[in-house]
Amino acid sequence: MNIFFDMDYTLIGGIDGSLRPNVQDVMERLKTDGHDLYVWSGVGIRWRDVKRLGIEQLITDCYMKPLSNYYESMKKMELPAEPDMVVDDFPMVASAFGGLCIPAYNVEDKEDRVMERVYNAITDYGNTGHSDDAMYRPRDGWHNS
Ligand SMILES: [Mg+2]
Repeated sequence: MNIFFDMDYTLIGGIDGSLRPNVQDVMERLKTDGHDLYVWSGVGIRWRDVKRLGIEQLITDCYMKPLSNYYESMKKMELPAEPDMVVDDFPMVASAFGGLCIPAYNVEDKEDRVMERVYNAITDYGNTGHSDDAMYRPRDGWHNS
C-alpha cells in the first residue's frame, strides 16, 4: 500500500517539534512488509523534518497536502502516487482518504506508544481491509462518485 503520513502532531510534536517515539522503527517494519511510505503536509515539503527523524531512506517522496476539499484537491494535484491509507491527527483527513486518525503528539513524551498501534492497525487493514482499532476511519463513500 501507499501510506501517507502527516508531519505536525503526527510524526513530530506540533508544539515543540520533538520526534515521536518509534517512528523510525515502525517505518522500517512497514517498508520491510512491502509498503511505500510518503510524507505530506499542509505547510510545505518536509524533507528537513524527515531527515531529522532519520527516515529519509524510507520515504519515497514528500508532497504538499490539500488544506480543504481533500480528496478532490488531491486528485487535481496529479501526484505521482495516491494514498491507499493516511495517518493523520486530523479526523477529516483520515476519513477523506481512509486511514488512521491518531492521537495528536503535542510535546515530547517518551512514553508515547501510538506508532506501535499504527503498525498493528495498518497491518490489520492490509490483511483484511479493516482494523478494529478505534483510530481506523473508512473512506467517505461519496468521494468515490
Ligand atoms: Mg497534523
